[in-house]
Amino acid sequence: MQEAAPTKMVAEEVFRKRPMVISGPCSAETETQLVETAKRLAVTGKVDILRAGIWKPRTRPGSFEGVGTKGLPWLQTARQETGMPVAVEVATGKQVEDALHFDVDILWIGARTTVNPFSVQEVADALRGANVPVLIKNPINPDLELWTGAVERIAKAGIKDLGLIHRGFSSYGNSEYRNAPMWHLAIEMKRRNPGLPIINDPSHISGRRDNLQELAQKAIDLDYDGLMIESHIDPDNAWSDAKQQITPEVLAEMLSAIIWRKEDVDEAAYHAVLEKLRQQINHLDDELLQILGQRMKIADSIGRFKKDNNITILQTNRWNEILERAFRQGEKIGLSKEFITKYYDAVHMESINHQNKIMNSAD
Ligand code: PEP
Ligand code: MN
Repeated sequence: MQEAAPTKMVAEEVFRKRPMVISGPCSAETETQLVETAKRLAVTGKVDILRAGIWKPRTRPGSFEGVGTKGLPWLQTARQETGMPVAVEVATGKQVEDALHFDVDILWIGARTTVNPFSVQEVADALRGANVPVLIKNPINPDLELWTGAVERIAKAGIKDLGLIHRGFSSYGNSEYRNAPMWHLAIEMKRRNPGLPIINDPSHISGRRDNLQELAQKAIDLDYDGLMIESHIDPDNAWSDAKQQITPEVLAEMLSAIIWRKEDVDEAAYHAVLEKLRQQINHLDDELLQILGQRMKIADSIGRFKKDNNITILQTNRWNEILERAFRQGEKIGLSKEFITKYYDAVHMESINHQNKIMNSAD
């Protein structure tokens, strides 16, 4: 057995490592399963932090809800055997106390907790005075304010090492992913919090094994600071999230296959080319805004005309005609139907707002 590492220091150091790779089972099931997984992860040399769910927030009662506090000593054993700092999800004040009592190195707040300010506040209160890094998963629903609120509550409790985990958002009827990634929301959160590392959790976005690689690569291409990926010695027989877990060896292959691009390189020529292309983009964006402004002016005139003639703002047939036309044109120039729909929805809403103002103005 190895000497127990001075884990506080290791955890803080590891928290600053890029990329930060976190892996381990969805749930700690038995001591053997956990320690075996940890050892096989450690052998790969590619994993920085061992994760394991001890308390599992399950959608339906009767599913395996975690081994509870008795699993915490198993994590200590796994750490002693491998030297890897350990991370656990906490959702209540009591869970924070127990995790800290058993020297868990890193805590994370799960998606089902981030949605609830009462729970986040309870966790924050229990964290006061503790010196432990905390990662905050995005809330289940696509709401950046809730995510931000959770970050603020934990920061106010005095936690210095904070980070974000993007695990996708619940969306009704979505079948491709267990949780829709909605990358734009995570990118916006990253933009608003330049000081916080952001980790991607492709396992909970995907819900299946087969597209983890693709999602992980996408996150790295978007300059994420790390990955959290679930792994298990016997994924098919895992007690929770069996479909999305992979063995430590498959994880190692996956991580090796990732192309780790740099955000920046120090070459003048490269920057010059990029600068030129960015100028072109700025120029086109300026033109697009000008044109949109003109379009809104025409919408205003139409609004005035409708008002004078007592016609409704929304005329469904006309709107369908605009969309159909845009789909046909978009297809020719490689713009997806999804983009066209979103773009036109936004433009249409703005037009309607303009027309609404005119309809309801006194003159
Ligand atoms: C987990 O990490 O096992 C988990 C429950 O994740 P999430 O909070 O993202 O659903
Ligand atoms: Mn899980």
